[in-house]
Parts: sequence; structure tokens; C-alpha cells
Amino acid sequence: MLLRTGIALLLSTALLSPAAHADSPTAPRVPEQTGWGGAVSSVDPDASQVGIDVLRRGGNAVDAAVATAAALGVTDPFSAGVGGGGYFVYYDARTGRVSTLDGRETAPHAADENLFVENGRPVPFAEAMTSGLAVGVPGTPRTWQQALRKWGTIGLREAMSPAETLARRGFVVDQTFNTQIANNATRFADITSTRDLFLPGGKPPAVGSVFRNPELADTYRELARTGLASLHGGPIGRDVVRTVQHPPVAPGAIRNVRPGQMSLLDLARYRVEEPEPTHVSYRGLDVYSMGPSSGGGTTVGEALNVLESTDLAKVSDVEHLHRFIESTKLSFADRNRWVGDPKFSQVPTKELLSQRFADSRACLIKPGAVLPAPLAAGDPRDPKPCGAAIQASPSRQDAENTTHLVVTDRWGNAVSYTLTIEAEGGSGIVVPGRGFLLNNELTDFNFVPVTPGVPDPNLPGPGKRSRSSMAPTIVLDRGELAFVAGSPGGATIITTVTQILTLHIDRKLSLLDAIKAPRASQRNAAVTPAEAAFIASAQAAGLSGIGHQFSQVADIGAATAIERLPGGGWRALAEPTRRGGGAARVVRTG
Ligand code: GLU
Repeated sequence: MLLRTGIALLLSTALLSPAAHADSPTAPRVPEQTGWGGAVSSVDPDASQVGIDVLRRGGNAVDAAVATAAALGVTDPFSAGVGGGGYFVYYDARTGRVSTLDGRETAPHAADENLFVENGRPVPFAEAMTSGLAVGVPGTPRTWQQALRKWGTIGLREAMSPAETLARRGFVVDQTFNTQIANNATRFADITSTRDLFLPGGKPPAVGSVFRNPELADTYRELARTGLASLHGGPIGRDVVRTVQHPPVAPGAIRNVRPGQMSLLDLARYRVEEPEPTHVSYRGLDVYSMGPSSGGGTTVGEALNVLESTDLAKVSDVEHLHRFIESTKLSFADRNRWVGDPKFSQVPTKELLSQRFADSRACLIKPGAVLPAPLAAGDPRDPKPCGAAIQASPSRQDAENTTHLVVTDRWGNAVSYTLTIEAEGGSGIVVPGRGFLLNNELTDFNFVPVTPGVPDPNLPGPGKRSRSSMAPTIVLDRGELAFVAGSPGGATIITTVTQILTLHIDRKLSLLDAIKAPRASQRNAAVTPAEAAFIASAQAAGLSGIGHQFSQVADIGAATAIERLPGGGWRALAEPTRRGGGAARVVRTG
């Protein structure tokens, strides 16, 4: 996205204070910036710049987070946008409280357990991905509105206006934007509205060309003007419903694009939930994250609690990584069995996060041997030392997309926000005339019970949220903000966040080095997916020596983080290379 930034910034001058250009005319992609006045880190330079401008104009972290997210909906529309959902975690410096918003998409009320079953068989995943069936009721616009109402200082209109300008005037297409369309070209070509928007002349827009999305600009304007009424019962909502029920399939497409059953009433009934954050104490720090319907907070939290029984500052690198891999193997076994939408099943959140339960699981880990996987889940309601009560709950493969942004402000408030439309390109279905892609979040449900005979909390249901792995995290040190972090990457989010936390807290790597470190992502399977650099490392050789097996996968995650510095400064951090690298910014450098 290097090429994109210059023009976008010049074009959006009207909305930026002059100061915005003074020290950074080209909004570079930088992995680290240190300074004052607040910070923003996201995967995209334009989006980070929009957030920084809001902070410069006196906005707070929540205002800037919403503005940054809205900009990502323009420049990174294949990862997130108004057609999707996400989880917003907020630290209020004045009260010291951490609060969350669950803006996850919901299944339509017409859905039942058999949403993805046809003639007794699960719908093939590849077909479900591009369908109206997979589209959940979007939660992102309501999340923005609720965050601003509760904690912000500006309205939706002001927060969305820089993004509207970006959409209307355009930005320069970079390699990432181009590649994400190319990756999806065949399914995008099968949907007329998506083809017309993202494959002009039959091809992805060329790198270096200016991409405009005036229909999205109008959508942003209409959403803000109507206070979202247009989506949750009005004209935009009607267009969404029509599109889900009658996907605009191109003549000649042979793909079976199944319709969904979303209704206007589903949109009218949508509510953002405000669950308590998850909390664990880890080596004296307080780690807060997202509770169910996301499994992010409980699964990272349990893994940390498992790790805590060993003094990881004192062990070898190989022993450290061995314990890290085993900790997420265990916590994924438990996530798979216990976590789902808490409105539909009893999710033992508190028990999953208890040290007693983690200790009962940690004692299964052996120093020189690998636990066989898939492992059985434990019973957090009745922990048995070294016990595994229930049949194995393996993880399934899922998509790895999404985006994570972090913001802090001059008052010390912080936001950690992960948002998504699920797969890269979501359902592949653009709402005609509205300029945005609909999510395919409902594919995060299990289509059929994972283990026959074992209750599955993640089957579809009416109005239900599919289980997520998003883990937007905030870490406090004796009540004060220490750092915020998170990552995209589907289920790998959990292992990425856990790995960053233990490398930083236990092994004393800088946050940037923890973000850079080669990754492995064990999710209760016999073989651990890992990056090439991980597999090539000396530590991996040591791990193989005790029986670990690895399979090579592409980049895992693209984290962003912000660290509080002594004296009140900020260090913003972003992924340096994966997915083209992110953009870490502070309000004033130095
Ligand atoms: N749907 C995934 C989740 O909620 C995120 C999508 C992705 O990262 O690809 O965990």
C-alpha cells in the first residue's frame, strides 16, 4: 500500500488539519514510532493517518478508533467494513475500568441448527463461503455508534466523514488491494455487483491507479445521517435483505450461490452486547480481553494460566516454545468443547479462566514429550488434576483474515478493536448500489456437531452469534495501562496473541521483537502449523527432537500494539513485514 498514501492524503486535505501534513506528508508504513499525545496502529497507513488526525483535532481514543475503522472499510474492504462485525475493548483511564462491546454478526431468526445441512449432509465449506446463507446480520455500524455514545466525544457523522472523503475521492491501489481481488477474482466475477465494483474491465484495478467507491461514500453518509436507521429497518437494510435473499449471480456463473433468510426484522432487532471482559492475572499483570461469543479471551487466558505454573524466564528457548505449544493445544481442546454464544448455552467462562482449572490441565504437560492430539477437553466446572473428562474436540480449519487496530489518547484511554467480514472478501457479495461487501461470518458455526454425542455450543441457532477467535487485548500493570495488542488471523489470533504476550512478559523481548518472532499455531491437532522461519529455526530442531511435528503455512497474523512509556509517552508498533506491514503512528514524534 506504499503507493496509495500520497494521493489519498492530498485528496482528503479538506478534512485534515494542516498539522497533519507537516511532519508526515506521505503517511509511511512504519512498524514503530515513539512519541506523545496518543497513538494509532493499524494495517493501513491511510487509516492510521485518519485516526491520528482525529486525535490531533482533540478527539479521544474511541473517536479515533471508529474513524480508523471506517477508513479501513474503504482501503481494506476485503478484511472489514460496515457489512461485518467485531469486538471493541476499551480502557477508561479515569475509572480504570475495561469494558467491551460485542458487535458480532447474528444468524437470522429463521435459522436453526441445520442452517448448513442439506439432505442430511453439511453444505461444502467452499460453497457456503460464497452464499447468502453465510451472511450474518452486520454489527459493525452499531458498534461504532454505541462506542461513540458511551465513550466518545464526536458523533457518527464526524467519525465517518474522513472515510467518506477517502471513498469519494479515491486512494491509490497498492499491491495488497490488487492481490486480495486477484485471490478472489473467480468468485467476485460470479456476482454482478462485486464484479462491477472490484473487477472493472474484468481485471483487478492496476497497482498505482486511483480507486474510488462513491457508492460506499454515499452509504457512509446515509448511515450517519439516519443514525443507522437506514440499515436497521430502512432503505439500506432493504437492499441488504434483498441481496441476501437473492444474491445477484452473474449470468453464466455455474457456482451454486445459495440464498439466505435474513429479514428486515433481523436487522431491526440487532443489538450490540456489552459482556464483561475476560480477566486473568499473569505474572502480576492484569490481562483483559473479549469474552464469549468470542473464545479469544478465555482461550488466551487459559493458555496463560497454564503457562504460569512454570517460571518461563528461566527455561531454555526450546522448553519455552514446547510449553507455549502445549498450552494452546490444551486451551483449544477446552474452547472447542465449551465456548459458544452464552445466550444459547451455559458457557463456563469464569471456570475456564480459573487458575485451579488451568493447573489441572498444566499438569498434563511433560517436559520432554508431546501430548497426543486431538486432546480431550477438561471439565472446568469440576477440575480433576491431570484429568481429561470428555472426548476429543478437534479444531477445524478456518479462514485467516480480519484486521486489528489499537488507539491511545493523551488522557491515557485505550482501545483494542478487532473487526472482520470473516473470509478475505467476506461472502464475495457486494450490496448493489451500496459499495460494501457482506460478511460470511456464519461459516464460523460448526455445520454439524464436531464430535458426535458431545454437546456442541457452536451450532447455528436463531439470532445466535457464531464463535469467534478474536482477542483484542488490554494489559494493565497495577491499574495503569501497560500495553494493548491484538492480531487478525482467524483461530490463529489466539496463538499469536498468546505468543506475543509470553515472549514479551516472560522472555523480555521488546513488543516489536515479540511481534516479529516466527510463529507456530497449535490448535489441538497432531501437527502444528508454523511459519517457514519458525520451522527453519534451531528451536524447531530442538522441538522436533522431542516429537513435535510442524507443517509449513504462510504468514500467521499481522499484529498491532501500543505500549505506555514511563513519563506518559507512547510506543506504537505494527507488523513490519507480514501482509505488507502495518502503520504505527504517534501524534507527536520524539
Ligand atoms: N471469523 C473469524 C473469527 O471471528 C475471523 C475471521 C478471520 O480472521 O479470518 O475468529
